[in-house]
Amino acid sequence: MNGPSELNWDNLENGVRNCRRCVLGSQRLNSVLGRGSRTATLMFVGEGPGRQEDEQGLPFVGAAGQLLDTALESLSFDPADYYIANVVKCRPPMNRTPLPEEAAACLNYLRAQFALIKPRIIVCLGSVAHTNLVSSEETITRARGKWIQKKDVWFLSTYHPAALLRDETKKLPFWQDLKLAKQKLDEIKNGQI
Ligand code: SF4
Repeated sequence: MNGPSELNWDNLENGVRNCRRCVLGSQRLNSVLGRGSRTATLMFVGEGPGRQEDEQGLPFVGAAGQLLDTALESLSFDPADYYIANVVKCRPPMNRTPLPEEAAACLNYLRAQFALIKPRIIVCLGSVAHTNLVSSEETITRARGKWIQKKDVWFLSTYHPAALLRDETKKLPFWQDLKLAKQKLDEIKNGQI
């Protein structure tokens, strides 16, 4: 968040809705803050809204989102345990990758979401989230499936579900990574870590 306003959900929603900090703000239909439990233990972070997300104002509601939802349901994730957001809150034109300066302009909103939700696990979906939240040194193919702990937050990176729609061979590693996330979530909920 910018400026002196108190950190709360109302201020965050208003800030994002009215934001023009980067060029994406002038081209969106709707900003897309996130969906899911605001007391979640785990946050998924993707790249940015696509066409359907822009139309509905919700993240991961298109084909990639349905794939993610199906996988989470199959692995018995409880919706009370997770929240889904993106690095940028407005749709890049033609679904292009957000530019580094757009991600940099928007990251304070994601940080505000982290501060409000206080997740213990953050799963980066795809290279944009991985680069901005974990490291820019490894490709997502090399970095995926490895836990990195920063303070008391566990980070895990995996493929963006949209990549699975283009390349079937990514489905198995994606599934394995989500299983790792579920295991860690269960350990945290059971007080084991
Ligand atoms: S993408 Fe983020 S920084 Fe850019 S206008 Fe939208 S909310 Fe603001």
